[in-house]
Amino acid sequence: MQRSISILGATGSVGASTLDLIGRERDKWRIAALTANGNVTELARLAREFQPEVVVLANEAHLPELREALAGCDVEVAAGANALAEAASRPVDLTIAAIVGCAGLAPTMAAIEQGGTVALANKEALVSAGDVMIAAVARHGATLLPIDSEHNAIFQCLAGNQLSQVRTITLTASGGPFRGWSLERLEAATPQQAVRHPNWDMGAKISVDSATMMNKGLELIEAHHLFPVRLDQLDIIVHPQSVVHSMVEYRDGSTLAQLGPSDMRVPIASALAWPQRMDTPCKPLNLAQIGQLTFEELDEVRFPATRLARQAAEAGGAIPAVLNAANEVAVAAFLAGQIAFTRIAAHVEEVLSCYAPANPLCLADILAVDEEARKMARGLTESA
Ligand code: NAD
Ligand code: MG
Repeated sequence: MQRSISILGATGSVGASTLDLIGRERDKWRIAALTANGNVTELARLAREFQPEVVVLANEAHLPELREALAGCDVEVAAGANALAEAASRPVDLTIAAIVGCAGLAPTMAAIEQGGTVALANKEALVSAGDVMIAAVARHGATLLPIDSEHNAIFQCLAGNQLSQVRTITLTASGGPFRGWSLERLEAATPQQAVRHPNWDMGAKISVDSATMMNKGLELIEAHHLFPVRLDQLDIIVHPQSVVHSMVEYRDGSTLAQLGPSDMRVPIASALAWPQRMDTPCKPLNLAQIGQLTFEELDEVRFPATRLARQAAEAGGAIPAVLNAANEVAVAAFLAGQIAFTRIAAHVEEVLSCYAPANPLCLADILAVDEEARKMARGLTESA
């Protein structure tokens, strides 16, 4: 029997890995929606190859171009925020939430509200919406499956166990491209250096987040919502080889870990096939060849982002949305050559210092906080 799937953020790195797997067992899937921001050429190519019901661009300005590129094809074409939410709310068996940033929040919530299964890569959405998203999952009887490799690892290590028996959950971090760098060198780090991750091939934004370690900070908050243990039970350890994707330690002293190649198709496959398993073309893990797995402490002096994220998680409410919004703006400014690498975390800290915890009650509250924090962060980057 065919299963139906929508991919939000189909033209990105996670979108491409997902479609690579789908393409290998094409007859098992019916594709409902494929979405992108403004990459017309790639979205049109995917539409021809995968024959979805509908393709949507978030950016309306490119709609005429997409219509032209798909003239004569039997596929609906749409654009804009409402069209994106409408496409995301079409009932499917599985939605892959792989838009980058808080821009993915509204469509992801629209998918959750259908009560189906949502495989989440878009960590910024969960970081920003936190309790509101988790409450919506419960209210609509939806299932949230983590695709982020660490959270997928934890999800697998928790299977058949109870959260109440967990002592600690440890997220592993590669340490990114600047792991051994001095503060002076970090000051001068360029966007090209920041996006060159040693182990993973990812989109630009998450690559910069990995370089600042904000990725691990966002993942700490993500883990806190997905696996509700106390914050002091959540740990981070640097593991440069990215072979152990995370670990769960139980009260009896047993630690379960999930290992695998650093290829996103492994956690994506786990979500696509869940609760079964499927084949992937990924190179098997060769531990003898890798030889050594090493672990080291975080350095929050050179990489303050994880400290800021932990503080935001402790404050709760709207503060993680502020952290995320300020970070998105600062990362974009760094990629555009407007601010230095080390200013990313500094800007985030400055924006956070202007906020007192407040409890967002609904999606609109979060989007308002997100917008306001972005304005504040833009003010800082423009005056930098
Ligand atoms: P990417 O930049 O490669 O792709 C992002 C996708 O989102 C593209 O399809 C793009 O068109 C779409 N998009 C961008 N801005 C948009 C907007 N304003 N509105 C609507 N759509 C928009 O990013 P990625 O690396 O695939 O990451 C996607 C998400 O998955 C991020 O949240 C990231 O943190 C998470 N993630 C990625 C990886 C990875 O290996 N790439 C691993 C773990 C988690
Ligand atoms: Mg991750």
